Amino acid sequence: MTDNGNNQDVLVLGAGLAGIEASLLLAQTGRKVYLVEKTSYIGGTAIKFEEVFSNMECSTCMVAPKQQDVLSSDNIELLTLSEVEEVQGNFGDFTIKVRKKARYVDMVNCIGCNECFEPCPVSLKNEFEEDLSQRKAIYVPCAGALPNVPSIDTENCLRFKGEDCQACKEACMFEAIDYDQKDEQLELKVGAIVVATGFEPIDPKNTPEYGYGKYNHVYTAFEFERLFATNGPTEGEIVLKNGEKPRSAAIIHCVGREQKGYCSSVCCMYSLKFVHYLKTRIPEIAIYELHSDLCIPGKSYQKFYDETMEMGVELIRAKDIEVVGQDQGEGMRVKYKDANNEECEVSVDMVVLTSAIGPRTDASTLAKVFDIAQDENGFFKEEHPEITSIVTSKKGVYIAGCAQGPKDIQKSISEADAVVGKILSTLT
Ligand SMILES: Cc1cc2nc3c(=O)[nH]c(=O)nc-3n(C[C@H](O)[C@H](O)[C@H](O)COP(=O)(O)OP(=O)(O)OC[C@H]3O[C@@H](n4cnc5c(N)ncnc54)[C@H](O)[C@@H]3O)c2cc1C
Ligand code: SF4
Ligand code: SF4
Repeated sequence: MTDNGNNQDVLVLGAGLAGIEASLLLAQTGRKVYLVEKTSYIGGTAIKFEEVFSNMECSTCMVAPKQQDVLSSDNIELLTLSEVEEVQGNFGDFTIKVRKKARYVDMVNCIGCNECFEPCPVSLKNEFEEDLSQRKAIYVPCAGALPNVPSIDTENCLRFKGEDCQACKEACMFEAIDYDQKDEQLELKVGAIVVATGFEPIDPKNTPEYGYGKYNHVYTAFEFERLFATNGPTEGEIVLKNGEKPRSAAIIHCVGREQKGYCSSVCCMYSLKFVHYLKTRIPEIAIYELHSDLCIPGKSYQKFYDETMEMGVELIRAKDIEVVGQDQGEGMRVKYKDANNEECEVSVDMVVLTSAIGPRTDASTLAKVFDIAQDENGFFKEEHPEITSIVTSKKGVYIAGCAQGPKDIQKSISEADAVVGKILSTLT
């Protein structure tokens, strides 16, 4: 607190790359930051990716140093498993109520050895892995998640359902498991707020014509990211659910774009990234990219596109796309109309859907809590789309990254930097 009552501290909501960038920069200037993240780990969506366009850099190599900096910063108080429940006050003087759920594992005593997982008798689908692998009721979402401290899922843990299980506690040599931990209600005082809660892809069940959920070998983009990830369910091997390698794949662009009414701006680029993924692991695979338009903006993206084309991919301008299962065998036919309105089809072993990016499902709740406006698509609304895209309708509450609208990592990070500039120049 300064003498004039202007609180210099900042609350950052969401520990994806945008939230992490804003927190680290603010912390470097000596500001105290409360980084509030609702999951048990930090890094957001980008930690699901093995590599990122446009230079196919290893995602972990890019994200892990930032995660470590957050964990070691004296100026950042990281609150995982936490959500904001109430916000009162104004720029320079906000009071925020945060609910911090118990992890039931002591952050100091735990060394992250994972010995407690195996004896847990509960086995569940791992949501982080898009249900492609199993997890226990005590777990970390994936190898390398940070903080590398498990949490207990009380909805599924036998002990929290009234049974007398303490298998995980008995397996832990470091006395890190603490069933008596309680949820906490915290009251934080800050001068400014950064909302960086990111995005959610649209549910492919809303586009039944592509056969997701009906045919085994239709995958969402996130599922495909995890199939390629070396810390994922297949340790990076691209195999179908029957264990076989696909010999052909169709990547369908713009899934849900018509429903949403906007271009998600990153799907074309990550579709091209998927060509790199497929050709790296299965060089002989035949790939068809079915697109309505191609969105390849910016100086480095054109080069990436040219390189991808050289890898061997058939680009097809298509509309009225439909995925149809075969009567026999596991393959599928992808039917479409080409640029001349001719009915065409390709037969493939695998289909990958690149879903439109939408706002978080809880965006309207958050908008009420923070008293900020949403746009017609449900993203948090900027004061002016061209000149003040990080400023909201509430003074002192800023937005960065995909919480404001679909964008790539570079732009998400640039917005976070811009937010920090605004805060440092106004909250003085
Ligand atoms: C399949 C796919 C592949 C992609 N590949 C690339 C790529 O190769 N290169 C590239 O540049 N971009 C890529 N992108 C885009 C990239 O994912 C985004 O630009 C980036 O993740 C945006 O970061 P963010 O911090 O805004 O959001 P997120 O990464 O979504 O992080 C938001 C964080 O906020 C947390 N959160 C959400 N709600 C709350 C709440 N109520 N309270 C507290 N915390 C909350 C979340 O748990 C999460 O940790 C891809 C996107 C998709 C869908
Ligand atoms: S809780 Fe104990 S057993 Fe489990 S990861 Fe931590 S130190 Fe290892
Ligand atoms: S108490 Fe039992 S069921 Fe619950 S997390 Fe530990 S081992 Fe699993």
